[in-house]
Amino acid sequence: MKFTSVYYEPNILNYHLGQKLYNDYSDLPWYKIDNHNRIEEMTNKSNKEFANMKRYLIIGTRKTHKYVINHKISDYLVPFTSSGCTAMCLYCYLVCNYNKCSYLRLFVNREYMLDKLINTSYKYERQLTFEIGSNSDLILENTITQNLLYVIPEFANNGNGFITFPTKFDMVEPLLTLDHKGKTIFRMSVNPKNIIRKIELGTSSLEKRIVAANNMCEAGYPVGILIAPVILLDNWQKQYEELFDFLADSLTDKVKKQLSIEVIFMTYSYIHRAINNDAFPNALELYNPEMMTGRGRGKYCYRENIRIPAESFIRNQIKQKLPQAKIIYIS
Ligand code: SF4
Repeated sequence: MKFTSVYYEPNILNYHLGQKLYNDYSDLPWYKIDNHNRIEEMTNKSNKEFANMKRYLIIGTRKTHKYVINHKISDYLVPFTSSGCTAMCLYCYLVCNYNKCSYLRLFVNREYMLDKLINTSYKYERQLTFEIGSNSDLILENTITQNLLYVIPEFANNGNGFITFPTKFDMVEPLLTLDHKGKTIFRMSVNPKNIIRKIELGTSSLEKRIVAANNMCEAGYPVGILIAPVILLDNWQKQYEELFDFLADSLTDKVKKQLSIEVIFMTYSYIHRAINNDAFPNALELYNPEMMTGRGRGKYCYRENIRIPAESFIRNQIKQKLPQAKIIYIS
C-alpha cells in the first residue's frame, strides 16, 4: 500500500511499534495530531476526497478498551490494534461509524491490548472466543505492522480459548508457519467475482482468497467462510450460484470437512449513499428502493419478501454444494 502522508500522535514514538513505523515510512511527510479521533483537517474534507483520504496513515494509541458482548461467531468483540482500512468496499460497515474518516488507523499500544485479552480469557470457566478483527482487516494491517506474527503465537502460548478475525485479503504467507495451536480461527469473506471487482474496491480477488483459505487450513488453522455481505443485484441468483460452484470446486476437502459458514445480508445507509455518489459517481448503485426498507438511523436492509426467499436460496446452495459445512448464522 502506498501512503501519501502520516498523521501521528507524538507519544507513539515511545512505543517499539511507533519507532518501527517511523523508520519504515521516514520518506513520507509526518504531521502531528492531538488525537486520532478528531483530526479537523480530515472532517473538513469533502466526500469527493474519500479515495485520497484512504491513502493517509493515522497512528495513535487506543484509549478505550471496552469489550462488547457478541452472540454470533464470538463471545466478545475486542477493540484491537487498528480501525479502518485502505480498501474501499462501497458498503463498508466502518463507514457507518467513521463516515469518510474510515482510513487506516494503527494503534501502537499492542502490548497493553494483548495483555488485557490474555487476562480476560482466564476470567470465565468455559473457553471463550474473542473477535479481534471487527474494526479493521487484520491481514491487511499485518502487512504494515506484522502484529499478527506477535499476537497469534502469544495468544497460543499464554491465552485461553480462541481468537478470530475475518478478512478479504490473501496475504497469509507469513502466518503459515506460526505456532498457533489451533487457537486462531481464520475466516475468509467471499462474494461473487463481479461484486468483488465492482464493489469491494482494493481487496484481493476471489481466487486468491480461496488459495489463502486452503493454505491456512493446511497449516492447521480452523477455517470459516463468510458470505458477506449478500448483495442482491439484478442477476443475483446466477452470481451466487457461480460463487458456490467455485467454492465447491476450489476449496480443498480438508477445508470442506471442518467448514463453518456465516451469511450476512447487506445493510446500506444514507452515509454510504452520500459518500459513494460523490466519490464514485460511476460505481454501481447499491440502494434499491423497491427491494430495501428503512432499518432505523438512516440504514436500509432488504425487505422481508425479498430477503426470505433469498435466504432459502443461499441455504439450498450450501446444502447442495457444501453439504458438510455448518451454517453458524444467517443475519
Ligand atoms: S475490506 Fe473490510 S474493512 Fe476494508 S473497506 Fe472492505 S469491508 Fe471495510
